Amino acid sequence: MTAVGRALRFTRSLRFRLAVSYVFFFTLLLAFLGIVFRQTLSATFKSQMRSILEEEWGAAKGYLRTGSAGPDWIFDKEDPDESFVVNRIRRVYLLADTQGHALEHSEIYDSIGLDSPDEIKKTLQSGQPAIRVRKDDKGIPYMIRSGLMIDERRNKYFLAIGRPIDYNDKVIRDFTWNYFSLLPVVIVVSGLLGWFLAGRALQPVNSVAATAQRITHSNLNMQIPTRNAGDELDRLIEAFNHMMQRLNLSFEQIRQFSTDVSHELRTPLTVVRGQLEVAMFTAGTIAQYREAMADALEGVDRLSNIVRALLMLSQAESGQLVLQKTRLDFAELIRDQVDQYQIPAEAEGVRLSAELPETCNILADRIQMERLVSNLLSNAIKYTKSGGTVKAQLVSEGNQVKFIVEDTGVGIAPDHLPHIFDRFYRVPSADPEKGLGLGLSFVAWIVKAHGGSIEVQSELQKGTRFIVSVPAGDSTAPPLDAPALPLHEQVH
Ligand code: ADP
Repeated sequence: MTAVGRALRFTRSLRFRLAVSYVFFFTLLLAFLGIVFRQTLSATFKSQMRSILEEEWGAAKGYLRTGSAGPDWIFDKEDPDESFVVNRIRRVYLLADTQGHALEHSEIYDSIGLDSPDEIKKTLQSGQPAIRVRKDDKGIPYMIRSGLMIDERRNKYFLAIGRPIDYNDKVIRDFTWNYFSLLPVVIVVSGLLGWFLAGRALQPVNSVAATAQRITHSNLNMQIPTRNAGDELDRLIEAFNHMMQRLNLSFEQIRQFSTDVSHELRTPLTVVRGQLEVAMFTAGTIAQYREAMADALEGVDRLSNIVRALLMLSQAESGQLVLQKTRLDFAELIRDQVDQYQIPAEAEGVRLSAELPETCNILADRIQMERLVSNLLSNAIKYTKSGGTVKAQLVSEGNQVKFIVEDTGVGIAPDHLPHIFDRFYRVPSADPEKGLGLGLSFVAWIVKAHGGSIEVQSELQKGTRFIVSVPAGDSTAPPLDAPALPLHEQVH
């Protein structure tokens, strides 16, 4: 990887992006707080200074006397407090008549610059005291409060008093400087902290990735250990582990399936091969050839049956088989099937009966439902000895329809019950010639595809009962066999 590529990869890493966002937002927050604090400080200083000036204005009115001899400050010179207050007021002040002519002013006020007669008149006309900040010739800022002063003889004057505010400004400047020059240091430290924290938080993600890298088809059962922190990452790890379990199961099923298929195909192939060899080496007459050929053909038939059944099942399970649901009379469908199985049942010496309502509508795929009924009936007849009985029943229970096939046959041992719906699963004692072990897997798929469920109860040598439940069809739906759903509803 080139240096640029590495740099790109680095800047795209979650750790980098988390740390950068952290630093970015932290910086914004600190800058914002700094500005807010600075503004608050400045506003507080201003309002403090205003109230000091208000107080001094009141005091100035008390001490300042105006008369024909000119303005005079009357106070007890012996009293240090009064002297102090008056001297302080007199440091920055201007007294002018209502025409704007200065009567008296301090030196500092002079260096600030006397207000022009126009300014004075404007202030007096406004009727409100004016607060302004002005600088003297040395650049020191002063807050000046000016306005109308009426003396005890009702004479009107313009008075302005001021106070330097350079100290306040210095405090604000110092704060701003200190705060914002410290900011980069804080940002660097917080960046390092963010980098460290993001690294720590993401460390499990890296270990998940490392484990995932090590997973191949031969160790799909590998699990990532959770950290028992109960956090999002643990949930991610659990979800990942579950996904791996499901994948492993599917892989196992596929592996098992291929083993089963090759096994299933090998036996009839060996048989066919044997029969052909016999024909080749031992048959002498046409009749013997014919017999060998007929046997071989039977074997081939069995092979193609297996292949067809497998194909259908794999199509069904991979969702390729399209269900064509219509409203159909389930009772009538079962009656037809029972009728068809009467002859084979008689041949086996089994009494086949049915207990069905007149009609029973359901929404289902006719061909698949026929397959379901036929599979269950043929199994029941197949696994019931001569003299036994098989009974098909159909009952409505709420919004469910139950199809029950009950026999008095050989039964299924509890060990085998959980497996009978698996592909190729046959109870070992069952006659190998009797079936492929695919019928019930297909039945289970059909039931599932129709949103139903299947249950089996069995007792060895007493009999077996299969109960299929499917949702009842809506009786207000369109008439029998009319398509009630889009014809090509995909089954998932
Ligand atoms: P098969 O083609 O072998 O019948 P199935 O998938 O239809 O395959 O059935 C699987 C196994 O379940 C059978 O091998 C059989 O042992 C058992 N089984 C199915 N139906 C019955 C039944 N009615 N009575 C006893 N055993 C049954």
